[in-house]
Amino acid sequence: MGFYTDCVHAGQKPDEKTGAVITPIFQTSTYRQDGIGKHRGYEYARTANPTREALERNVAALEKGKHGLAYSSGMAATDTILRLVAPGDEVVVTANVYGGTYRLFEMVLKQYGITFHFVDTAELSEVERVLNSKTKLVYLESPTNPVLRVTDIRKVSEMAHAVGARVCVDNTFMSPYLQTPLELGADIVVHSTTKFLNGHSDMVGGIVVLNDDATAQKLRFLQNAVGAVPGPMDCFLALRGTKTLAVRMRQHEENARVLATYLAGHKGIARVNYPGLPDHPHHALAQQQARGFGAIISFDVGSLERADHVLQSVRVFTLAESLGGVESLISHPATMTHGSVPEAQRVKLGVTPGLVRISVGIEDVDDLQADLDNALRA
Ligand SMILES: *Cc1c(COP(=O)(O)O)cnc(C)c1O
Repeated sequence: MGFYTDCVHAGQKPDEKTGAVITPIFQTSTYRQDGIGKHRGYEYARTANPTREALERNVAALEKGKHGLAYSSGMAATDTILRLVAPGDEVVVTANVYGGTYRLFEMVLKQYGITFHFVDTAELSEVERVLNSKTKLVYLESPTNPVLRVTDIRKVSEMAHAVGARVCVDNTFMSPYLQTPLELGADIVVHSTTKFLNGHSDMVGGIVVLNDDATAQKLRFLQNAVGAVPGPMDCFLALRGTKTLAVRMRQHEENARVLATYLAGHKGIARVNYPGLPDHPHHALAQQQARGFGAIISFDVGSLERADHVLQSVRVFTLAESLGGVESLISHPATMTHGSVPEAQRVKLGVTPGLVRISVGIEDVDDLQADLDNALRA
């Protein structure tokens, strides 16, 4: 089936008993058993819930994977993946990963004897330099937030597999509409469903997709053992969201391309980061490994004061954390997502005081452009 069809139907069929077209919200913690040791596949809702299973099957199909496992947040999903590595093991991580991922690795998991190498994975020589026989996992984010550097997923996967390491890609920024890392050679895909997959900024969740049966079995055990599972209502919302993923992404992308071109031509802007622009350093790679460039753009307006003015002046964009919802959001990475990164490191990453990030929504692009145009008029 095609991607649009899978968005609407994959993993779901009308309810056997009632014919309900939409998978019901199974808001129950436990299930009646027919006798000792006899149940219908459901005993207790941490272990299994039909609404959650429908979401897991649906996103697995979209990511071209066999197994899906849903979690209570993107961070919980990542935490569970990291339980596949043991003390003494090493993990290679994209230097500018999502701030929460950095915090989880450095401030929570490091104390359990796992070594994390944060390198610019867009530079293959940097990856080569730290890979060794102790490397068990390579954790990639591509494109990165907020400067949108792109990692060659296929090449890094080959390099990682050569030393016996797995590759996990955080695909939150692209969604499977634009990029399917498993098809590029990665072993595991992780998402914050909070963002584009749900798309309506009304729940928090995470999901993992993979092909390998043995690893999936381990993760399924951990999902139940650790217990960071999503509630049925949140699964229902995410599943409703994925039905429109393709049409939303098409509009997000179309709007983002228009705004990136507009911003690139604006006199008051020093630099625009968007992989879809021909002068982006990874434009060719982005074009080759993905079906589009996404809806996140960052641009430098020159100073903190000017960034503040822009953020205060917008009327259609909303000043807020997060991304991937139908509504356009605007934020200031240096003080928001990267507030805890030391300034020298921030500047090295390209997160300058004047940098503004937008998550382009699905509103009329003319309204979005007029809003930015007005806010940029100092
Ligand atoms: C938001 C986000 C996460 C974390 O997900 P939560 O659902 O907030 O826990 C991880 N990675 C990326 C790229 C994100 O944008």
